[in-house]
Amino acid sequence: MNAGERKGGVKTDLKGARWTTSTLGKILKKPILQGIAMHKGEALLRDGIPVRWADPILSDEEFAKLQVAVVALGRHRAGIKSKSSPMAGVLYCPCGRKMYENGSAGKLNTGEIRPHRYFRCSSWSNGKACEFSVSWPQDQLYAMVEHAFLAKSGDEEIVERQYVPGRDNRKRIEELERAIGNLSQSIALAASPVALSSLTSTLERHAANLEELMAEPFVPGRWQVVGTGQTYAEKWSTMRGWSERGPFLCEAGFRLFVWGRRKDRGRGATVHVISPSDVAERESSALVRSIEPGDEEAWNLEALEIFKEVLGA
Ligand SMILES: [Zn+2]
Repeated sequence: MNAGERKGGVKTDLKGARWTTSTLGKILKKPILQGIAMHKGEALLRDGIPVRWADPILSDEEFAKLQVAVVALGRHRAGIKSKSSPMAGVLYCPCGRKMYENGSAGKLNTGEIRPHRYFRCSSWSNGKACEFSVSWPQDQLYAMVEHAFLAKSGDEEIVERQYVPGRDNRKRIEELERAIGNLSQSIALAASPVALSSLTSTLERHAANLEELMAEPFVPGRWQVVGTGQTYAEKWSTMRGWSERGPFLCEAGFRLFVWGRRKDRGRGATVHVISPSDVAERESSALVRSIEPGDEEAWNLEALEIFKEVLGA
């Protein structure tokens, strides 16, 4: 609070505020965490460099990473539905819609009532089923998913994508250049030796800061791929049940398409696995397109495109 109100070294009365996710979100976005003084919502600059009032809680690099994570989390949370199936967001119908878990009570020949769980395309819930519109028994589908996933990606090493934040000093460079121009004019007009010496030393500080900023005016943020030394099969064997496996597949970027038509239902389903490397490969071959961190919608569309290409081939 002191940093926000530009009061140093005074005891501030605590004000109560509701502790909500949006309050927390706002705090996590403030450069105050870097110990930087703020003025009217902007970082306070002196000689073109942000003024630090306090020891940083987060380093500049940590803060930049946090900003990426907060944005990605916001996007992610928007898609979360409560009570969803472990396979929510992983299983897709060839029509491009998500498949949902559903259940009914089935009566066996023996008269025993047994719950029947299955997956089906979300188009059912709109009352107008898509052309594929088949529901597949849960156990059968889980077995097929496991088989298809391990066959395709089991031996592959799990890689993690880490975001390396970029830096943009161009605005500050511009401001400093302008300030140096103004100072040079003042120096030319200065009459008193005291004023001259003060202006000259400010100019020198500005020039030194400018030189530092010019060394790296603009570095774009980028993703870096880091190997974990563990294969998907190894990781899979450590996970207990689908409540762990489903979210793992989803977060790792796997999208599974369940292929099969209602009219030849007897032939059963086929599970097509679109892996994160499939998407990454396609991304790198397209020069312009680039999925931003946390953009699930773009990722899902890309996976669907790949699936369609696989079907077409
Ligand atoms: Zn469908």
